[in-house]
Amino acid sequence: MKTVLHHDHEAEPTLADYDHGPLRDDYLTVTLLSAGLAQILQRRTRAERGEPNDEALLPAAWRVGFSRLWWRCAAQGEPPTWNDLQLLALCAQPLITWPVQLDLSESDQQHALLVDSRLSEFAEQGARLARTDVEAEWVENRVHEALRTAASANGSTDREVELAYAYLRRYLIDHAVIADREVLALERRFPATDNAERAHVRRLIETAYRARPAAGPQRYLLCAGCRNIVAETAPQCGTAGCPGGEPAALLLEPLAAVYEQHRATRLFMHDPGLVEARIIDALSDDDTLAGRVRVTPYPGVDLLDVLIEFVAPGGTEPAVLETWGVDAKDQLSAHLLGRGFVWPRSMICKRRFLALPTHRAKQPGYVKDLETELDGRVAGIEVVDETTLVRRVRARAKELNP
Ligand SMILES: [Zn+2]
Repeated sequence: MKTVLHHDHEAEPTLADYDHGPLRDDYLTVTLLSAGLAQILQRRTRAERGEPNDEALLPAAWRVGFSRLWWRCAAQGEPPTWNDLQLLALCAQPLITWPVQLDLSESDQQHALLVDSRLSEFAEQGARLARTDVEAEWVENRVHEALRTAASANGSTDREVELAYAYLRRYLIDHAVIADREVLALERRFPATDNAERAHVRRLIETAYRARPAAGPQRYLLCAGCRNIVAETAPQCGTAGCPGGEPAALLLEPLAAVYEQHRATRLFMHDPGLVEARIIDALSDDDTLAGRVRVTPYPGVDLLDVLIEFVAPGGTEPAVLETWGVDAKDQLSAHLLGRGFVWPRSMICKRRFLALPTHRAKQPGYVKDLETELDGRVAGIEVVDETTLVRRVRARAKELNP
């Protein structure tokens, strides 16, 4: 195996930006190593399946990450002697134990890049930021695509498409497991079909869930906090920030199959969607806001998570007094979140919020680290936790309509 000991100028063009980034930027290095690891794991899976592999070299992201790390060590007075295999072994250790001092936040240093020979949550976030084609992201993209297609096929106006999208997006957050009967009900509600006469919503469900043949009643235990499936023997859900609680039984009566969410759907759509669902519910269920605040989930087919319009009471088409936009994000590393965050240019709002779930906002340094990364990159974004946001909406509604 070849060890790259010099700065690699033969990296793929897509990595050019990373390659030229300041060498001291250790988040960049970790992001590249994560992206490289994702590709290495993918190649290994393919090899295990006996699929041909014509890629002789290690992934470019890995090589660039390695060389950046090499220079970092050299700058600290000790050029490393390790090779690729040794670095791979290091990836299973927390970053703080690496024989090079990396300029990462204290909490980010506690993470390893590999856990049980899989990408850690931290490394997944890094790999996604580098936009590599990890398998999980690939499933996620296919789910997103199927979701958009199903929504646009089932609406004849922009508003109808927006409503169909919001319904189906929320469906994926609210249902970790469903029976085939429910898929039939979805098909009746959203009947548009493709050229092969298959309902678009069926394609969505088959992409986002894994079907399992099942006859007779099926009992599941769902976590009270996040509604993910938990095992009878170990009713701990493991979902980040989930308050847990007494699991509730769910009895499904399938005709012939049940559908359980793919890991990627759970990790990248269901779990991060919980915080926006809580915000949407808190605002929609609040009687004091009725007639004063209009809440639109996933406006413009998911440009944002929530659009909040303060309106003048009365009339069938009430005047909009003020508009706020909210993007809710539940991600492990504040630094990586701040680097990847963009506000859609077409969403013009008086105030723009990046809302965090309480469990992230409470983490020491999280908000400060996030604001540091946003500073100078995106202007005018207010970072808030979910409860503060809801409180501010209530207060503003009162100010505008005393
Ligand atoms: Zn849970």
